[in-house]
Amino acid sequence: MQKRSVDAVVIGAGSAGLNAVAELDKAGADWLLVESGPYGTTCARVGCMPSKLLIAAANAADAVERADVFGIRVRGVDVDGEAVLARVRSERDRFVRGVVEDVERLPAERRLIGRARFTGPTTIRVGDGPELDARAIVIATGSSAVVPQIFDAVRDRILTSDEVFELQRIPASLAVVGTGIVGLELGQALSRLGTDVTFLDQAPTVGPLTDPEVQRYAHAKLGRRLALELGAAVEAAEPAGNGIELAWKDAEGRARSGEFEHVLVATGRRPNVAALGLEHAGLELDERGIPKWDPQTMQCGDAPVFLAGDVDGHLPLLHEAIDEGRIAGENAARYPEVARHVRRTPLIIVFSDPQMAIAGQSYASLDAARTEIADFSFERQGRARVIARNVGLARLYATRDDCILRGAELFGPDVEHLAHLLAWSVQQKLTVQRLLRMPFYHPTLEEGVRAGLRRLARRLGVERARPCEDLAVAAGM
Ligand SMILES: Cc1cc2nc3c(=O)[nH]c(=O)nc-3n(C[C@H](O)[C@H](O)[C@H](O)COP(=O)(O)OP(=O)(O)OC[C@H]3O[C@@H](n4cnc5c(N)ncnc54)[C@H](O)[C@@H]3O)c2cc1C
Repeated sequence: MQKRSVDAVVIGAGSAGLNAVAELDKAGADWLLVESGPYGTTCARVGCMPSKLLIAAANAADAVERADVFGIRVRGVDVDGEAVLARVRSERDRFVRGVVEDVERLPAERRLIGRARFTGPTTIRVGDGPELDARAIVIATGSSAVVPQIFDAVRDRILTSDEVFELQRIPASLAVVGTGIVGLELGQALSRLGTDVTFLDQAPTVGPLTDPEVQRYAHAKLGRRLALELGAAVEAAEPAGNGIELAWKDAEGRARSGEFEHVLVATGRRPNVAALGLEHAGLELDERGIPKWDPQTMQCGDAPVFLAGDVDGHLPLLHEAIDEGRIAGENAARYPEVARHVRRTPLIIVFSDPQMAIAGQSYASLDAARTEIADFSFERQGRARVIARNVGLARLYATRDDCILRGAELFGPDVEHLAHLLAWSVQQKLTVQRLLRMPFYHPTLEEGVRAGLRRLARRLGVERARPCEDLAVAAGM
């Protein structure tokens, strides 16, 4: 069979792969894009967008229920589950259509359909097609939901995030196994829409927060309205009627069981590397079977192979996948002269309610000996009380020697916005003193950040350094 030679092959038409292709095209490279599934990306089809659509509906229901606190009486809130899920799907389909149209605008002769696998260090075969010889290869094959073996007997009944958005009605009962970002977001949303949800996780934590104080607080507050069983190991899953019976050991080692209409398995995602034939690529692999790579170039060793997106198992987030696709595509075009890129400040947001966020360095990554920490609470914070959402705690981290803000972990109302401001400040290497010179409007949630910064300034011993530049003091803020 004839070999076809090209400058670059990009494997995977997800967010990372499409951005790699955009860079290759800009550089005038002769590229091919291979996709084994339907176009439309994980983000639009089964990830960011449908999950946030479901959460938006859930939060609307919750807001109506909470209206009572303002003296607004709403009687007989009725969640029309079929209508909720129909909107999730129809809006999701709009997002997917947009992506598919973008992909279909790419020249048809550059798009191959089929599963790509390595046949040698620079050769790829797509299905039974001819061998492709590429000067550079970008692996952007994404990740897949992990389903532990314990669910083998009910594999056709359990839900993962791939199936959950296809539900036609809101289930009466649901066990969510895994209280990471996906499990927490989807489980809380379904609970607000009327499902009786039990959360099970063998770890003692909920969400990605690593700061023990913020984690403890979030667990306690979320646990008031959600049935959180942390430290609970699922031991068996069997079919029961039309549903599933789970058996687990709780945190005290007691045997527990329950029957659920559905079980959502949200125990993490695994990079899609197994079917790539990486054994033929001559790359050094880590213990998970992922090629070793450099996050500043996305290159695997000094090979003409680049990783991008969830497949590298690094930061499985959309904006990171896009950046990595851009870096990988640019470097695939320039190979062997690869460019190093400074990566953005880390930012993780969980769309639970209250939301969670990590901006900049997490608590777990701090050098404790060099770090000063101060917290602020949303419980007595002016704006949080005005909107009756005064639940939350955040902690800010700065280095002692230079007073630069390094990171924060937050749990509170709409902290997605505060987390952006803090991540931008961390990336700008702003000191606590400079941050306190910024304007803070009244009454806003940002004033809570200022309270935390003031506390941090006191801890750092710099609260009197520039007394005129942090003037605003008002009661109850
Ligand atoms: C429920 C959920 C909610 C999420 N919410 C958020 C959020 O709110 N914010 C956020 O930032 N991130 C979120 N994410 C994560 C985000 O969706 C991913 O980080 C992002 O979509 C990864 O993009 P990617 O290009 O790496 O992978 P993908 O978009 O999955 O693309 C990989 C592509 O490669 C193809 N492929 C695989 N193997 C082969 C092969 N051998 N040959 C050819 N093609 C192949 C696949 O079919 C797929 O189309 C969420 C994820 C989930 C599951």
